Amino acid sequence: MTKKSVKDIDLTGKRVFTRVDFNVPRNEQGEITDDTKIRAALPTIRYMLAQGAAVILASHLGRPKGKPDESLRMDAVAARLSQLLGHHVQKVDEVVGEAVSLAAAALQPGELLLLENVRFHPGEKSNDETLAKAYAGLAELFVSDAFGTAHRAHASNTGVGQYLPAVAGLLMVAEIENLSKSVHHPLRPLVAIVGGSKIADKIGVLHNLLRSVDTLLLGGGMANTFLKAKGYQLGKSLVEDDQLTAAAEIMQEAAALQVNLLLPSDLIVADSPQDVPGAQAVAADSVQAGKMALDIGPQTRKSYGDLVSKAGTVLWNGPLGMYEVDAFAQGSIELLNILAQSEAFSIVGGGDMIAAVEKAGVDKQISHISTGGGATLEFWEGKELPGIAVLQEI
Ligand code: ADP
Ligand code: MG
Repeated sequence: MTKKSVKDIDLTGKRVFTRVDFNVPRNEQGEITDDTKIRAALPTIRYMLAQGAAVILASHLGRPKGKPDESLRMDAVAARLSQLLGHHVQKVDEVVGEAVSLAAAALQPGELLLLENVRFHPGEKSNDETLAKAYAGLAELFVSDAFGTAHRAHASNTGVGQYLPAVAGLLMVAEIENLSKSVHHPLRPLVAIVGGSKIADKIGVLHNLLRSVDTLLLGGGMANTFLKAKGYQLGKSLVEDDQLTAAAEIMQEAAALQVNLLLPSDLIVADSPQDVPGAQAVAADSVQAGKMALDIGPQTRKSYGDLVSKAGTVLWNGPLGMYEVDAFAQGSIELLNILAQSEAFSIVGGGDMIAAVEKAGVDKQISHISTGGGATLEFWEGKELPGIAVLQEI
């Protein structure tokens, strides 16, 4: 670890602009269904408060379109954070502006302020300089604990670091240390499992991942896009049609690099995610029109499970099915159990993967649970992430 952390500097009496990743999964009522990401940031927050810092917290939540979205306000997060910390959390309803500046200026050592969802501001994702300077104007120091966003160069996790001394939080340190172990000198065979639904975000990463892994197992919505690229009919399944060429290229590249890239040989299909009684296993080339592929099937669980149980290192991002519905969680849960029993050094990352690990009840048997999804994947590629690059070297 060559990055400076909160332990390397004097925090006493300092106002600290702290980027955290509180992008937690929520249900349709907006209630938090898994608070792992909030709990993961507590050690850094507690440490800074104990050192006498005044802590300003900033995070995004969900995908607002650069403007306020009532369903994505940070109030539920503030309430949960306050409950977990046993400490008052003051929340402001704006990202920047006079109310925020006044609240930050009035903040005393040992006090906490949470800003509104930073992605309500159009300048956040464009890494706008004026916005980055406005964040910097609130504090004397920048701490980043948001590993989950480290692969993005946004104003609150990268831009602000141009204008303030920037150091890592404790979660960021733990992530960098654990992930480095799996990237440099991994125990082989190195097996990567990639699933989930953010296909366009993740597909590009697979090119580079192919250069380091021995085996790549695909599931979830990601696999659907690959199956369609092979010419199979996928009915009403989640498929990203504009990624079909990208998927075909990755399959060619895997063959050229002699990487064992596997797609599901069978799938669990239903009329819709609600159609639990209609769920049935079919061969991957036999998805009927009108059906949705919502999980990997029993044959695939077996073949993937055999490879996972013999692996030296397993990197896993994205669930293999719609794990939120029990009927479509079996692929992810069975594979997680096999991984938990295996001797492999195991790293599982991603917001939804964390929730799936909780559901399977195997969190103690996984070597490292990463709070990153896309960030973890890009780290595995060997890239320097902008949210890490901005932090000062020791
Ligand atoms: P992570 O948060 O672990 O990085 P993603 O956000 O990419 O993972 O994907 C998680 C989502 O993918 C879950 O909501 C899950 O229901 C969905 N998903 C997985 N497989 C499928 C599928 N076959 N069809 C539709 N959605 C799926
Ligand atoms: Mg997710």
